[in-house]
Amino acid sequence: MSAVAVDDIAAWVRACAELVRNEAALLTELDAAIGDADHGSNLDRGLRAAVAKIDAESFASAGALLKTVGMTLVSTVGGASGPLYGTFFLRCGAALEEAGTVDAAAFGAALRAGVTGVQARGKAEAGDKTMYDAWQPAVDAYDAAIADGGGLGSALQAAAVAAAAGRDATIDMLARKGRASYLGERSLGHQDPGATSTTMILEAAAATLS
Ligand code: ADP
Ligand code: MG
Repeated sequence: MSAVAVDDIAAWVRACAELVRNEAALLTELDAAIGDADHGSNLDRGLRAAVAKIDAESFASAGALLKTVGMTLVSTVGGASGPLYGTFFLRCGAALEEAGTVDAAAFGAALRAGVTGVQARGKAEAGDKTMYDAWQPAVDAYDAAIADGGGLGSALQAAAVAAAAGRDATIDMLARKGRASYLGERSLGHQDPGATSTTMILEAAAATLS
């Protein structure tokens, strides 16, 4: 696949919704350990609403579609993750709109724009035990794969693998942002729910856009 079309991006969002729906119990269980047990249900509700929107409307561009997904998540997902995922898809969509034709480099730039938005919004640094610990290695791995001459598919596979490693690394981190930070040392030994859902979003991208 050389250029990403609107239908491909719609398929990605549907795959995110399906994965999160199937794994909602896991996400909520992880959030029960270090948060308030709502991450799976929050994100499931938001992505269902996003899919309903893309079913009901037609979009002039991939970017326009993702901006609608972002706005839907902001208005339907509560808590910390709603504005963060909303910002990711809004910034990602805005970058795709600017790019026009979406090739592997443009998609990578859009992912990075989304992640920069997550960081600006949540002010998390690497190692704070948040979704940023999955996003940041993922976009770095994506860019490294492109620099090595890889295409969209191999870059997305690399991003998903790096996100999963980042997610696993959150187990040994002390939470410094969000609800989990209230637990201090007791946050150790638990996998971050947001880093887990971020990995699902990237796995869905690798499965549908490759
Ligand atoms: P809430 O904590 O408000 O109940 P969720 O349960 O939906 O929200 O989401 C929790 C996830 O949000 C955490 O696992 C973490 O990954 C992410 N998160 C929380 N605060 C931040 C932040 N400041 N920056 C990045 N991610 C964050
Ligand atoms: Mg929660």
